[in-house]
Amino acid sequence: MDGPREGGNGAGGALSALTAARVRPGRAIPSPVASGTPDATRPVLRDQFGRAIEYLRISVTDRCNFRCLYCMPVEGLEWLPRAEILSYEEIAELVRQFAPLGLRRLRITGGEPTIRADLDRLIALLRAVPEIEDIALSTNGVRLAELAGPLRDAGLDRVNLSADSLRPDRIAAIARRHLPFDPIAAARAAERAGLTPIKLNVVVMRGINDDEVADFARLTLEHPWHVRFIELMPVGDMRSLTWEHVVPSDEILARIAAIGPLAPDAGPARGNGPAAYYRLSGAPGTVGVITPMTHTYCAACNRVRLTADGRLRTCLFGDHEVGLREPLRRGEAIAPYLRAALAAKPQEHALLQMRVGGLRALSQVGG
Ligand code: SAM
Ligand code: SF4
Repeated sequence: MDGPREGGNGAGGALSALTAARVRPGRAIPSPVASGTPDATRPVLRDQFGRAIEYLRISVTDRCNFRCLYCMPVEGLEWLPRAEILSYEEIAELVRQFAPLGLRRLRITGGEPTIRADLDRLIALLRAVPEIEDIALSTNGVRLAELAGPLRDAGLDRVNLSADSLRPDRIAAIARRHLPFDPIAAARAAERAGLTPIKLNVVVMRGINDDEVADFARLTLEHPWHVRFIELMPVGDMRSLTWEHVVPSDEILARIAAIGPLAPDAGPARGNGPAAYYRLSGAPGTVGVITPMTHTYCAACNRVRLTADGRLRTCLFGDHEVGLREPLRRGEAIAPYLRAALAAKPQEHALLQMRVGGLRALSQVGG
């Protein structure tokens, strides 16, 4: 697979410019705030560096109805055979075994999780695990208007919606699919169903959608939504994108600050993860930046990932994985595998060393 490229597309130069452009001295970026109040009586899972691991991102499929130009080649990828994909019962069994050890929060992702049939059935199985406090969903939103109610009824708490443009022609150009999709309507449907706080994730790409940063930020003046701008990550084939398309978060924040006074903020009450949040003066919503390329949050990492075929991945951009599907299907206890995986969780991701650990796309690991 292709890692981040150097040479012809200016990778090295753009990367140095990017890393040099880290948070400016004096700029107060708040630390990620842990959600909820820690309960001293609960078991805590720790990795080899003492970080408490309480959050599992579960990919339910590697397939997708979009082909976002930063994520998947237009021809798709080599999909996992069905027999290798964990059933909903198998996923629930893994969560049932992890939860008493310290797992508290889940995110269902993919690929596009809403294209897997009967997702509400999985949500209901996970909701029934007593230790699980929060279940969120990452989606491109195409099916959200139709599914928000049933998913909420099954026990889903909230959604993150990916939306890279507010313009229909551009949405189709970035997704490389002409599916009916209005991100505002999708967010409203989720909000009506009570899947709050609503978070919109925007991958910012220079020359492609960076002229919409202010438009997205203005949404927070009208809605209690949390619009998070993600630095483009150099993952996979990236045939149509180069490092020149990366827009550092400082630049994103400067564009937002041009709208009006911008102050650091604690962000949404639940699940504010690695984003640093700000609020435009008087806004009911917040803006956030997620800065994988300026590398500010590995020290507070609290998560591991489960791929659709049952591999536990301890770092989004690391090489390390532990296969759980076969031990699970043999009826073995999973705790020793989990503990072994956490004992090898890396201290920080390898992206800045120009390695992406065998990834061709974030859709393969539940980005
Ligand atoms: N299909 C769902 C979606 O798009 O929200 C969930 C899976 S998607 C892989 C999860 C997140 O990864 C999305 O917010 C997407 O924008 C982000 N993502 C994928 N590839 C990325 C890249 N190269 N750089 C930055 N973010 C990326
Ligand atoms: Fe699909 Fe999400 Fe990847 Fe876009 S980012 S191609 S919606 S998995």
